[in-house]
Amino acid sequence: MELISVIVPCYNEQESLPLFYREITAVTDGMKEKYYNENISELAFEFIFVNDGSKDDTLKLLRELAQSDKRVRYISFSRNFGKEAAMLAGLEKSRGDYCVILDADLQHPPKLIPQMYDYVRSGEYDCAATRRISRKGEPKALSFFARSFYKIINGISQTHIVDGAQDFRFMTRQMVNAILDMPEKNRFSKGIFSWVGFETKFIEVENTERAAGKTTWNFKKLFLYSLDGIFAFSTAPLWLSLIMGIIFIILALAMVIKTLIFREPMEGYPVVIALVCLIGGIQLFCMGVSGQYISKMYTEIKGRPSYIIKETEETRRNISNVRKNFPKGLK
Ligand code: UDP
Ligand code: MG
Repeated sequence: MELISVIVPCYNEQESLPLFYREITAVTDGMKEKYYNENISELAFEFIFVNDGSKDDTLKLLRELAQSDKRVRYISFSRNFGKEAAMLAGLEKSRGDYCVILDADLQHPPKLIPQMYDYVRSGEYDCAATRRISRKGEPKALSFFARSFYKIINGISQTHIVDGAQDFRFMTRQMVNAILDMPEKNRFSKGIFSWVGFETKFIEVENTERAAGKTTWNFKKLFLYSLDGIFAFSTAPLWLSLIMGIIFIILALAMVIKTLIFREPMEGYPVVIALVCLIGGIQLFCMGVSGQYISKMYTEIKGRPSYIIKETEETRRNISNVRKNFPKGLK
C-alpha cells in the first residue's frame, strides 16, 4: 500500500475549498480505482489542509471536512504566517510515501496528479512539478519583472531556479525529508526545491485562472519575495559592495595622481558636492546590502518557530471528547 499526502495551504479560501475538495477527491478516487484495477499499486490518500490564519470561514469548513472524511487532517495557525510556513507545516505533518503540494484555488489542476505520480513511480524522477509557459492574464509589468528576476537570480546564484516553476510538486519521501532537513527560517521554496537536487520532471502548463476568491499577492509583496530569494540563495550582492568599493578607491587614486602629475588646480565646489553625494550613496547602498544579510542572520539566530499551531483535527477531537464527558450545564 502506498500513501500519498496531499498538502494544501489555505488563506481565506472559503469559496474555493468546496470546489477544490470535490475535484481533488474525484481525482484521487479515480486514481485509486485505476491503479488497483490495473494491478499497479494500492493507493491511499491523506489530505492535509493548512489554515494559514484565515479571516473567513476556512477553518469552519476544514473542521466539517475532517468530521465527514477521515482522510482529511488539518493544521490551523494562530495567525497568518505566509504560504512558505504553511507548506513547511504540511510537509512536517505528512506521513505519505509521496507528498504533493498544491494551491486551494484550483490554479494547480488536480487532474495532473496521476501524470505526476507516473513520472515519479517510474523511478526515473524524484519529483514532478509544473512549469508555467505562458503568463497569459498577468499584467505586462509583472511578467517583465518576473522574467528579470529569474535572469538575475540565475546569473548570480549557484542554485538554478527554473523560470515559471510552480510550487505544485509531487515528491518522494526521500526528497521531502531532505527539504525538512533544511532548518532555515527564511524559506524560499523555489530555491530550496532546487537546492536539494534530485531529478525533477517539469510538466509545462498554461496559466490557469483562480476558481474563486482573490489572490493575496501584489507587486510590493512579489518584489520583497524576490529580494528574499536573492538574499537567501546568493551572496553576490555582498561582492557587489566590495567591487564597487574597489572601483571607487581606484578612481579616487587616479584623480589624485592626475592632479599631482599635471599640477591641475582642484576647484569648483559642485564637483566636490557631487563626489561626496556619489561616494555617500555608494556607502549607504553597500551598508544596506550587508544589512540585509545581517537581518537574515538575526532572524535565524533568534530561532523563532516558522509557525505556531493553534488547532489540528486531533486537538479538536480531544476537546470535544472532554466536553462530552463534562456534566451538563458546564458545557
Ligand atoms: N496562501 C497561504 N498563505 C498566504 C497566502 C496564500 O497559505 O499568506 C495560499 C492560498 O490559500 C493558496 C496559495 O497559497 O492556496 C496561493 O496563493 P494565491 O492564490 O493567493 O497566490 P497566486 O496563485 O496568486 O500566486
Ligand atoms: Mg492562486
